[in-house]
Amino acid sequence: MIDQGHIAALTGILGDKGIVTEPGDMAAYETGARYDEGRAALVLRPQTTEEVSAAVGYCVKNGIALIPQSGNTGLVSGATPDATGAQAVLSLDRMTQRFEVDLDNRSLRAGAGLRLSDVNQKLEKHGLFFPIDLGADPRLGGMLATNTGGSRFLKYGDVRRNALGIKVVLADESGTVLDLTSELRKNNTGIDWKQIFIGTSGAFGIITECVLNLEPLPKQVATAYLVPASGAHVMPLLRAMEDRLGAYLSAFEGMSKNSVAAALDHAPSLKNPFQGGKVPDYVILAEVSRTWEPREGEQSLDSVLETVLAEIWESDDAPLADAFVGPAHEMWALRHALSEGVKHSGKLIAFDLSFRRGDIMAFCDRMKDEMPHTFPEVTICDFGHIGDGGVHFNLVVPKDSGSAADKDFERRLRDRVFAIAVQDFNGSFSAEHAIGRKNQAYYDLYTQQKIKDMAQGLKAITSPGDLGTVRFG
Ligand SMILES: Cc1cc2nc3c(=O)[nH]c(=O)nc-3n(C[C@H](O)[C@H](O)[C@H](O)COP(=O)(O)OP(=O)(O)OC[C@H]3O[C@@H](n4cnc5c(N)ncnc54)[C@H](O)[C@@H]3O)c2cc1C
Repeated sequence: MIDQGHIAALTGILGDKGIVTEPGDMAAYETGARYDEGRAALVLRPQTTEEVSAAVGYCVKNGIALIPQSGNTGLVSGATPDATGAQAVLSLDRMTQRFEVDLDNRSLRAGAGLRLSDVNQKLEKHGLFFPIDLGADPRLGGMLATNTGGSRFLKYGDVRRNALGIKVVLADESGTVLDLTSELRKNNTGIDWKQIFIGTSGAFGIITECVLNLEPLPKQVATAYLVPASGAHVMPLLRAMEDRLGAYLSAFEGMSKNSVAAALDHAPSLKNPFQGGKVPDYVILAEVSRTWEPREGEQSLDSVLETVLAEIWESDDAPLADAFVGPAHEMWALRHALSEGVKHSGKLIAFDLSFRRGDIMAFCDRMKDEMPHTFPEVTICDFGHIGDGGVHFNLVVPKDSGSAADKDFERRLRDRVFAIAVQDFNGSFSAEHAIGRKNQAYYDLYTQQKIKDMAQGLKAITSPGDLGTVRFG
């Protein structure tokens, strides 16, 4: 329970609309997209950076712990309060006013509370977009704090690569505002401080505003499903596509048979595109795109893709067993349905891993060999952003099995998968979802002491107050 005096003081700072204390109204802020369920002392909903600053300063002075929250679509228990009922959620969901497009600079200055879908809808008339694509609809602040990757990383990179500047409120007694909202793409004048706050889950400050790089909206898109001749042929196939398509290649997404089957089961409206409904062991969704309208006499993009696939098909030791070009919206609908499909197919224990690209299939093969012996009740439903080395390595346990509710089983499984990914393959235990409570123990385990010491120093000079769910030091 929070002191009534604090509620009155914070209402004075944020107004009636800026504070939520009714349990029913707080529920949406207490429950995460997938796993989390906590209890908030109250929810703060500031509308401006100045309000964030005043509220944060008050909370730090009075020892009130703050959890920043944007779209609440994160998958690592980062944006929701714990079960104590003592933490306040600081939601950015009302920070949506600012939206200034600079066409010459091809950049956007925006409030951290804007949803990705709203941003891209507003940019459409300018022929521009913020090029991070994923199956959820986060807000910009959360995307910056987690450094979202997504399906087109191969072409456009992650949020870090597309962030020009940010404004941050530090969790100190003054609620210091740090204005790092440069519009510049080039600026070698010292430490790039914004990067301290990007991808660090709100541990060092609260992002209230940002300046983002925009990209021209593709005007031609062609997609194909590719069936590799075997797992070992996936990388030769990717390299053959990159050789022949260069910057046209905008996605190369891998989908295992189990993950596709789970999506088709969960969403009957999805079209099963495979001959006789028979889903192959592994399928790649490849996308090529161009930013200009089709020109007369120019080979269409569908035809470019077909030509390239024919060349690869006819090459020595052809890496392709099958391929077909199809409508982009249908092909992406299946890809974006994998996550929810897998989630509904049983108790999901999800891993967001990354590897050197050439190690992805070797890792998956190793796990397919090992799992039936060590964790026989587990079904592997992996899919991922193969073009950038990312794998959503999902393990599903039947909901009615004893293991589904067994926390020790989940811990042993996580320990084993991470040990193989990190120690044997030099991979990352968090490719693009960031840390959060879910990954804290593995950050502690796999991070050098010197790095932790440096992070602790950084925390002390940026946000000494109780902020966020992650401890880097
Ligand atoms: C179906 C589905 C598909 C997904 N696919 C992908 C994918 O392909 N790639 C990918 O990278 N992610 C993916 N995600 C995960 C998630 O959508 C991203 O991590 C997203 O960027 C989180 O943004 P958010 O606004 O929801 O942040 P939240 O969930 O609200 O917060 C995430 C973290 O950032 C902190 N935070 C939030 N706002 C701020 C702020 N303003 N300042 C400082 N810290 C803040 C929070 O405390 C928390 O630690 C997916 C999620 C779902 C449900």
